[in-house]
Amino acid sequence: MAGRPYRTEAVVLRSFRLGEADRVLHLYTLDRGRVGAVAKGIRKTMSRFGARLEPLSHVEALLHQGSGELQTVTGVELIRSHHSAREDRYRLGVGLVGAEAMLRLFTEQERNPRAFEALTRFLDLLDDVPVRAARPSLDPLVLSFQLKLLWLSGYLPHLTSCAECGATEQALVGYSARAGGAVCGACSEGALVLSESGIAGAESLLIRPLAEAGDVGLGDRSARDALAVITAAYEYFGNFRLRALRSA
Ligand SMILES: [Zn+2]
Repeated sequence: MAGRPYRTEAVVLRSFRLGEADRVLHLYTLDRGRVGAVAKGIRKTMSRFGARLEPLSHVEALLHQGSGELQTVTGVELIRSHHSAREDRYRLGVGLVGAEAMLRLFTEQERNPRAFEALTRFLDLLDDVPVRAARPSLDPLVLSFQLKLLWLSGYLPHLTSCAECGATEQALVGYSARAGGAVCGACSEGALVLSESGIAGAESLLIRPLAEAGDVGLGDRSARDALAVITAAYEYFGNFRLRALRSA
C-alpha cells in the first residue's frame, strides 16, 4: 500500500543503527499509531535530522510508506526534545520503562489519540521529575502511566471491590490477573498477595491525572505492590516482561 508522504506528530520510542549509515526507528504516531521507519543516510543528513531522532523525542515527522514494511523518514521537526529527561540517569530510567510499555502494549498501526496524548503528557511531566523512589521503575509517574496504558488497552484493573465475587465489604488482600483485579481473602487462592495500602495506591494512580501521580504519597511497599500488579497484568494478558525493568 504505497502512498503519498504524510506529516504526523510522533514520539521516538526506540532507535537503533542499521548498517553504516541508516537508523531504524520505532515510532508512536498520532495519525497511525505504531510505525516502524528507517532514516536513511543519517550521517550525510546529520545536519538535517541532528539529535531530533533520539529516543523520547517528540517530533513532527514527514513519513513515506513505500512497498516495504518500514516507512521512510524524509523530514523531521522537533516539537519537544525531552533533553532533560534523557540526560538524567533517573529520568531516563523512568522514560525507558514507559517507552517499552508503549512498545509492548500498542503494537498495531492503528490510530489511538488517547494513547498518544498519554505518552506525550508522560514525557512532558518526566522532564521535571525529581529522584523520589528507590528505583526508576518505582517512580509514581511511570506506575500511573502504565496503569493508564493497561486501561486504554482494555485490561482495566478492577481495584475497588473483589473482582471475583464482587464483595465490597471484605478487605482486598491480593491481585488476580485472571479475575481482572483485586480479590478478597475468600477468593485469594493463587492470587498475588498485596498490602491494602498497595491496592489503594494503585487505584489512586489509576484514577488521578498523571500530573498528580507524585501527590498520591506512595510508600515503598505500595509502589512495589503497584508494580507487581502491572507486571502480573503484562504476563497474563500480553505474555511479556519489560526488559527495561531488569535494569531500572
Ligand atoms: Zn471475593
